[in-house]
Parts: sequence; C-alpha cells; structure tokens
Amino acid sequence: MKKVIFLLTVLLSFGLGAGSEASAARKATSSQMQKLKLKKKWRAYDPGEVFFRDNAPQTEGSKIYNRIIPEPAPYIRENALLVLQTLYRGPKDPNVPKLKRIYYSLDDYNGVSEKYGHGDHVGIRYSTRWIERSFAGGDTARLDYETRGVLYHELTHAYQLEPKNCGQYTDGGEYWCFIEGMADAVRVACGCFEQDFQSKDRPRAETWRKGYRVAGYFLYWIQLNKDKDFLRKFNRSAAELETWSWDAAMRHVLGDRPENGVEALWAEYRRAIGEVE
Ligand SMILES: [Zn+2]
Repeated sequence: MKKVIFLLTVLLSFGLGAGSEASAARKATSSQMQKLKLKKKWRAYDPGEVFFRDNAPQTEGSKIYNRIIPEPAPYIRENALLVLQTLYRGPKDPNVPKLKRIYYSLDDYNGVSEKYGHGDHVGIRYSTRWIERSFAGGDTARLDYETRGVLYHELTHAYQLEPKNCGQYTDGGEYWCFIEGMADAVRVACGCFEQDFQSKDRPRAETWRKGYRVAGYFLYWIQLNKDKDFLRKFNRSAAELETWSWDAAMRHVLGDRPENGVEALWAEYRRAIGEVE
C-alpha cells in the first residue's frame, strides 16, 4: 500500500507548488546539525544494507551530488540511524522494523524525493533536478542541509509505525496526517528545518490536519514542552492503540485529561507560539 501512497505524496506536494516534502531550504544552519549526535547504543546497529545507484550520471545534479557526497552509502546509513534514534528508544525495542535493504537512487525527474516499497525492502529516489535547484548559488552547506532534510523525511517513512483503523493514506485524514506529520516532525527534530517557531519554515495554519510541517512543528513543540520522549511515544502509540486517532494517541501518551486532547493542545500551542492571543 505504501508504494502507491508515497508516489502520491510526491505528486501531491508538487501540485501544491512549494510542497511540503520540498523544503524551501533556507539558511543552512549546520550548527543545528552538529548538535545531533548518534547515541552509542545505535552505533553498531544495522539499519539495513544501503545500495546506492546513480540512474542519471549525465545530469548536473548527479555531478553535484557525487562531489558533495562522495560516499553515499555511509552517509545514508548514518542518517538512517539518526532517524531510528528519533523514533525509538533503542535497538532492543521490538517495534523497530528490521530492514534488509535500502535502495537509494538519483533519478532525473520532476520531483523532490519519494519512498517506495514496503516490508524489509524499501527504496528512496532523489531527484537530480531538485539537487540542481537546491544548489543554486553554489552553496554546499545548503545542499547538504536540504539533502539530509529530505532524507530524514523519507527515512521516517521507512521506519515509522503505521496506526490502525484510522483510515488510509489516500483519504487525507488521520492516518495520512500521522504519516506525513511525523516525517516532518523528525526532520525538525533532527535540525533540518529551523527549530524556531517564528521561522518561515513553519507554515501558518488553522488546523493540525494540514499534515506535513503544520503537524510536524506541532508535534515537535509537544516534545519540547510536554514530554521529551513524545515523538517516540507517539510513534509507538501506532502499535499500542487498536483504534488510533490523534486525540486518542495524545491522551494515551500524555495522560487522559481534557487538556491533553488534540484540540486543547493545538489551541495551547498556538497561544504559546504567539499565533493567536
Ligand atoms: Zn512524505
């Protein structure tokens, strides 16, 4: 199912112009990235063997990528471990999906990136045209920042849990919002969107149901203000709740009280970041 789903994701984000998979990579805050350290317990973990393939070696994007990332497989592996660390407490967590292979390719197409496949074999494509656009101005740090950011998003799809009995990806409802909101929450938490709620990276919206960065920043705020393990617990709620919903999952993780319902938290968040009075 995810295969179809994530193709759609990319098409959708393109239909919307500056889509949500796409980041308008702004200042490359490499200082943020340096803060992100892989914990010792993950270092020897096998996130799945990475197979890199360049399907567009004639393109400028491919040349840029290969110059900036001369060894893609270890680069992808390292970032996969950072995503796993953001989603799970440790390698012993029985919920951690065991991937055998991660196919990663550069392709010449109109898009940003997409994850496909399911089970223990997954693939991610990265667009050489997007690389060319992200490298406008020749800013190497910015391209690395953007490439990592896109990778965090897509790798989250490879490792995240899938909530049950809450619709399907294509209906744009709770399930979809979880899948895409978590992917951008991980990207923010890993420092590849600005970790500043006043930043232009955070889109303004009336409802968390917009998914992507709107939901992603909201989840990240909860992690900062309510529970430092929130993203891991929210991910785990997908395995723990038989009938999942945003509201049920928030209460499950934070305590079943009115102030922990999703709408109450959304209202509190918007007041806290100064979006509403
Ligand atoms: Zn996505």
